Amino acid sequence: MTAATQTGTPEEGFTAVCVHCKRISAGAVVVGSIERASGPPLVQYACPDCAPKHGAEPTPYDVIH
Ligand SMILES: [Zn+2]
Repeated sequence: MTAATQTGTPEEGFTAVCVHCKRISAGAVVVGSIERASGPPLVQYACPDCAPKHGAEPTPYDVIH
């Protein structure tokens, strides 16, 4: 199994592996990124359940809730 994490912006239908519980979530939100010496930053995502614990930044998804 390879990591589904890629650079880019979350959008509808987007799924990513939660950095906290390692589950694939359709509602993943960006919680940060890791700068790498080579290549683009590695974006980290968290599922809606874990995002608050990871200090997720406010997103439109949160605003409408
Ligand atoms: Zn999670």
